[in-house]
Amino acid sequence: MKCPFCGHCKDRVVDSRESGPGDSIRRRRECLACGRRFTSYERIEEIPYMVIKKDGRREPFDRQKLMSGLQLACQKRAVPVKALVQIVDNVERAVQDNPDREVEAGAIGKMVMDSLKDLDKVAYVRFASVYREFEDVQEFMNELRGLLGSRK
Ligand SMILES: [Zn+2]
Repeated sequence: MKCPFCGHCKDRVVDSRESGPGDSIRRRRECLACGRRFTSYERIEEIPYMVIKKDGRREPFDRQKLMSGLQLACQKRAVPVKALVQIVDNVERAVQDNPDREVEAGAIGKMVMDSLKDLDKVAYVRFASVYREFEDVQEFMNELRGLLGSRK
């Protein structure tokens, strides 16, 4: 790092600490030529959280898209919007907590379906059918049968 006082390019780091929770790292540096000290800040590059599609393609996690899908599945059902926001929040947290910064679309679908199952059975079936795009018909039918069978 170039010294702001003399322009020399070599320095040593005398101290470094995080200035916020995962926000930026502050380093105190000492110029090897003039001996004066200056501060540099290092920021982590904003990388979008990615969703891995079935064919391996990645696309950025889109909160709004997930919310739209949920609203569609819950159309004309007695499901409060607050409950849907909660589901989206949970999914987003799970994506962000993943150290690889990416999560398989199937895992997201499973999380959503697990939440919807408790919330509204019709919404659950709708979401499941849309989400799986019938690539997984057998599993879908099994779930559907299990659902109908367990209905009181
Ligand atoms: Zn210097």
